[in-house]
Amino acid sequence: MALASRVVDLIRNVPDYPTPGIQFKDITPLLGDGPAFGEVVEAFAGPHRVGAADGEVDVVVGIEARGFILAAPVAIALGAGFVPVRKVGKLPWETVSASYELEYGTAEVELHVDGVLPGQRVLVVDDVLATGGTAAAACELVERIGGTVVGVAVLMELTFLDGRTKLPGRDVRALIRV
Ligand code: AMP
Repeated sequence: MALASRVVDLIRNVPDYPTPGIQFKDITPLLGDGPAFGEVVEAFAGPHRVGAADGEVDVVVGIEARGFILAAPVAIALGAGFVPVRKVGKLPWETVSASYELEYGTAEVELHVDGVLPGQRVLVVDDVLATGGTAAAACELVERIGGTVVGVAVLMELTFLDGRTKLPGRDVRALIRV
């Protein structure tokens, strides 16, 4: 079976979690399937291998928390560094931060000021692209400290939320779109 179809089967839909009306995309069955997890990592890394069409990356940025699980092995596969974007107050060193709107209220994420060096090429990775605010904030932070965002890669894009509109001009890749 093609990887995308297997990934669809391995992402569990949990209704009304964490709040009523939200259908949570639980990636733990996928992470627990060794061969599928490995193929997903390769699908993220492949386009950015040395000499590949989409260009090499120096750093893979993972967004807390499930983005870390995907971004770290992609970084290793590419011989790139892994850098976390975290929720506010979690990083110990000097940070840059960005706030963005949620359906109710705002959220804030941070990146170490020296997490990405000026001129470094960055791939931003997360599990789910929903409204796009989180990924857009991560890209903004990378660029604020001088990095170049080469692309945004997610496992699953929830197309009905139009997250791409918050990422204009960016190369956004989703393994599956629902
Ligand atoms: P957004 O900023 O709206 O694109 O939300 C993306 C972030 O929230 C990602 O880090 C996801 O892990 C998480 N997220 C949003 N919606 C869902 C969902 N339905 N299931 C699982 N994670 C989600």
